[in-house]
Amino acid sequence: MWRGRSRPRRIFLLGMVTELQIATRKVISVNPATGEVLRQLDCASELEVHEAVACARAAQHAWSELGTMRRIALLKDFQHLLHERNSEVARLISREAGKPYVEALTTEVLVVVDAARYLIENAYRLLRDEPVPHGNLAMKTKAGRIVREPYGVIGIISPWNYPFSIPATEALAALVAGNTVVVKPSEFTSLVALELASLFHQAGVPKDVVQVVVGDGAAGAALLNSEIDKLIFTGSVPTGKRIAQTAAARLLPVVLELGGKDPMLVLEDADIDVASSGAVWGAFVNAGQTCLSVERCYVQRKLYEPFLEACVGKTKQLRVGNGMNREIDVGPMINERQLHIVESQVEDARACGTRVLTGGTRLPELGPNFYAPTVLADVTHDMRIMREETFGPVLPVMPFDTDDEATRLANDSEYGLTASVWTRDRSRGDAIARRIAAGTVLVNDVVSCFGISEAPHGGVKSSGVGRTHGRFGLEEMVCIKYVAVDRLPWMKKVWWYRYGEAFTRQMEGLLDMQFSRSARRRLRGALRSAGVLAGKERL
Ligand code: NAD
Repeated sequence: MWRGRSRPRRIFLLGMVTELQIATRKVISVNPATGEVLRQLDCASELEVHEAVACARAAQHAWSELGTMRRIALLKDFQHLLHERNSEVARLISREAGKPYVEALTTEVLVVVDAARYLIENAYRLLRDEPVPHGNLAMKTKAGRIVREPYGVIGIISPWNYPFSIPATEALAALVAGNTVVVKPSEFTSLVALELASLFHQAGVPKDVVQVVVGDGAAGAALLNSEIDKLIFTGSVPTGKRIAQTAAARLLPVVLELGGKDPMLVLEDADIDVASSGAVWGAFVNAGQTCLSVERCYVQRKLYEPFLEACVGKTKQLRVGNGMNREIDVGPMINERQLHIVESQVEDARACGTRVLTGGTRLPELGPNFYAPTVLADVTHDMRIMREETFGPVLPVMPFDTDDEATRLANDSEYGLTASVWTRDRSRGDAIARRIAAGTVLVNDVVSCFGISEAPHGGVKSSGVGRTHGRFGLEEMVCIKYVAVDRLPWMKKVWWYRYGEAFTRQMEGLLDMQFSRSARRRLRGALRSAGVLAGKERL
């Protein structure tokens, strides 16, 4: 595992080898609640990233040869170890990412323990060869099967907001399928990623099979440009687009899990108390720094004012503070850059006439990165707060009149990650869910889809390409190979050379026999394909 060790680099100058000590760049791990520096780490250099990938490649054959059942056994050991250490891991996550300890436990550790459970129970069945019966008569002599093979080395580039569950769930799927993995975590949460790698190693996964290269965007770019066979990227849309362009130039397969502007639709038959509690939790969980969080809320006009009143009352009761304190609800934001984005969007909305019902300010008395949970009313789609990803503790609420209008507003976005619909009528909720352009739509809940290990996770439009989690997430980790074995190896195939009139008639017969709507033509086709009828004789 590279921790960005500083070491002399060899430089070739006019045929002479000179040793130079090049200053290594650092990433600084900081507790966002207090500003305390937790550790400084050297960034892995480009060379070190490439070396890590080379080690991963060298280790991959043996890892793949181990077989799915032995890899599942190692996943069980990892799962057990993580369960045993859950509190220690959650504390580290809370210190480095700022989130409340209980959120670290539920949305990070529990999600990973359960993702391991899903793979332990299902990976063997999902990865084994799949026989494929052939419908085409001419191909019935072949036994076909789908074979799922590991890609080789999977690169994982991950963000800071779920620094444990995102790389861990992706790594688990990649590993069980027989790939080796190199993770480049966010520069803000390196310690959590190093802890993840350490857990894998202590569980018995060889060091070169899971490696972490610490660093910023440059280390991510080095991983992208290395000899990896596939990249699973989670992060912002601008970085995702840059990665897609580079990957396209060398046809590197990528999964892109990008940003969201997730809408919540509250229909007039919704339970206001339940929906407002859902909105407040969905908007402020992890201080709103959740790709699936409620980023915009639309409420049927009849419920609008009472819904706002309920949201404001519940928001005012939230206790903001250091995530390590178990008696708080909302932690700090990750850093000043993120705080500034939120602040500027709220100020833009304020300048455009929105009502700030609660919050709308920093809370410097609590620490460097705190922003008050904020509820906004009378927002419009002309405001940045309703168009750009906010990624902070803000709940902007807008009224609508009809279901059609609500659906149109929900779809009026470049993003399409998740959405939620709130109604007492399940079939109405299901019907609206089908009309919303999103990777996932929840009816009467928010955010929790990330905790459903069986559910595919991913977006449409600018929210990304491909899926992680569940069956489809596992499928992303394998190359599909088709193997067809002919059962009659002694027989030349009739469609081989040479062509001629008789053969053409036989093939025309075969086509008619299988696909003609007329029974007579099907019979004639059968006789012609068998060579009983030679020409266009009438039956
Ligand atoms: P980011 O795009 O700034 O960084 C993500 C990762 O990419 C980091 O590890 C970063 O170091 C690396 N990186 C930056 N520049 C790079 C480059 N040129 N080449 C390669 N790697 C590079 O995103 P962030 O601020 O860390 O995360 C927040 C974003 O992630 C939000 O937009 C959020 O919605 C999104 N997100 C999406 C999901 C999802 O599942 N769809 C989940 C979590 C977060």
